[in-house]
Amino acid sequence: MKKIIALLLIFTYILISAAIPASASSQIRIGLLWGADAKNAEVGSKSGVNITLGNSWIACLPYSSVTVSSYASYYTVIEKSGFGSIEECQTYVKNVSTDCVPFYHAGSFHAAKAWYTDYESAEAKLSEVHELLNPEAYILSPTYNSLCICVNDNPVLITSSGTMKIEAKDSTLTLNGSGHRGILEFSGNSGYVSVISILSMEEYLYGVVSCEIGSGAPLEAKKAQAVCARTYAMANMGKHSPEGFDLCATQDCQVYGGMATENATTIQAVNETAHQLLRHNGQLVNAYYSASCGGKTADAISVWKIDRNYLKSATDDGCESYTWEENLDYNKLSHSLAKIGKGVGKLKDINIAERSSDGSVTKLEFIGEYGTSVIEKEAVRTFLGVKSQYFDFTDEEHEIVIPVNSNEEEKKYPYISHKYSVEEMIINGLLMNCTELVLKETVPSKTKIKGYGYGHRVGMCQLGAINHAKNGWDYHKILAHYYNGSKVS
Ligand SMILES: [Zn+2]
Ligand SMILES: [Zn+2]
Repeated sequence: MKKIIALLLIFTYILISAAIPASASSQIRIGLLWGADAKNAEVGSKSGVNITLGNSWIACLPYSSVTVSSYASYYTVIEKSGFGSIEECQTYVKNVSTDCVPFYHAGSFHAAKAWYTDYESAEAKLSEVHELLNPEAYILSPTYNSLCICVNDNPVLITSSGTMKIEAKDSTLTLNGSGHRGILEFSGNSGYVSVISILSMEEYLYGVVSCEIGSGAPLEAKKAQAVCARTYAMANMGKHSPEGFDLCATQDCQVYGGMATENATTIQAVNETAHQLLRHNGQLVNAYYSASCGGKTADAISVWKIDRNYLKSATDDGCESYTWEENLDYNKLSHSLAKIGKGVGKLKDINIAERSSDGSVTKLEFIGEYGTSVIEKEAVRTFLGVKSQYFDFTDEEHEIVIPVNSNEEEKKYPYISHKYSVEEMIINGLLMNCTELVLKETVPSKTKIKGYGYGHRVGMCQLGAINHAKNGWDYHKILAHYYNGSKVS
C-alpha cells in the first residue's frame, strides 16, 4: 500500500511539475548598456549595495550612489595582501597607507596602489614600497575586464576580473537614475562597462507593457500586449547571447523602461495573464506586433520571408483613420541607393512594381540615368524612411522645365525654380521675361506619399487593440483576431 501511495505521489508530482510553465521560475537577462555607449554607470540605492563577484558575495558598500567603470590597461602595485574582508582592508588603508585602494583579486582583498599606465612607473613605486613597507609587494599586470567602483570620483573598490553583481540592500536599485527590479550585472571590457538587468519574466513585463502600448491603454489591450510581449520574449530568448544577455531594452527587441514605466493597470495586466503564452497548434507563436496597421494587417510574407498561418492579413476597423504623408527627396535617395551598392546615377522616377493584397508595397523600382534598382519587402519602408509599406504616390503627373544654364537663369529670374510647372509659370506670368528656355527637363513628379499604418503591420495592431478594448473586446478576442487560429494557454 505504502508503495502505491509513494508511486501516486511521484506521479502527482510529475503531473504538477509538467503543468508549471517554463517561464514560471525563469529569469531573463536584459541588456541595458553595452558596447561603445557605456563608459560608466551610476548605481543608486538608499540603503547601500551588496556586491557579488562570480558567485561569491564580497562586500556591502554603505553608499547611496556609486559609479561603476571599467578598470583596464593599468598596472597595479599590490602593497599588502591577506585581508579577510573589505573592512579590514579599509582599516589598513586608513591607518597605514592612505594612497591605497581596496583591491579584490584571487578570492581576497589587497591594499593596492592603482592607475599606473606603464610598467616603469609601477616598478618605481614598487621599489619604494619594498624599501619602506613590504618586501613582498608585487605588480599585477592589466586585465581587460577589471571593474572599479567610485564614490564621488574616489575609488573604493577595484576588482581584478570577473562579473560583478550589484543588489540593493533593502531598497530599489537605480541605474543612471532609473529604478530597476532584480539585480544588475556589470562586466568590464577594455574601458567600457556593460550592464545587464537580471529579473523574473513577470518583473520584466511590468517595464515593457506601457512602453510598447502606452501607459493609458485600457486593461484588456494591456493584457493582450502582456501576452504578446511574454510570448515574444520566450520565443526570442537568447537573441543577444553573443553579447551576454537574452534581449535588449530597445525597439530591436521590445522596449523595456524599468520601474519608471510601471503603473497599476500594467501590473494588473501582467499579473492577470501571469505565465500565459500564445500558441498555434501547440507551438509558441512568433508574436509580432506594431503600432498601427492602417486598416489591414500585413501578411508576414509581404514584409519578411516568413510564411505562417497565424500571420496572415486581417482587416481591422480599429485604426482605419491612421494615415500619414511624406515628401521624397530624389537627391537623397540617389545617394542612399549608391551607398547600398544599388546606385542608378541621377534618380528619374520611382515605380511601384508589386503590391500584395494586404496593401503592402513589396517591390519598388528606382529608375535612374544609368539603370534600374529594386528594393523589396520590409526594406521598402526602411529604405524610404517612411512609416509603413502601405502607401500611394499622390502627386499629379506634370512636366517641369528649367532653363539650360539654370544657375545663370536662376540668378536672373529667381522665381524660376523646380517648384513650378510650365502651366503654373504661364498662369502666374513667370515666363514673360524668360525667352531663353532651351532645354526641357523632366523633374521627378512622384515625390509625395500618402500612407496608412505605422510599423511593419504584422500581427497585433496596437491602435486597433486599444480601440477594440474600448468597445468591449477582451484580450482573448483581440489576440484571436490578429493571430488567426492561435490560443492563449
Ligand atoms: Zn535586441
Ligand atoms: Zn489596425
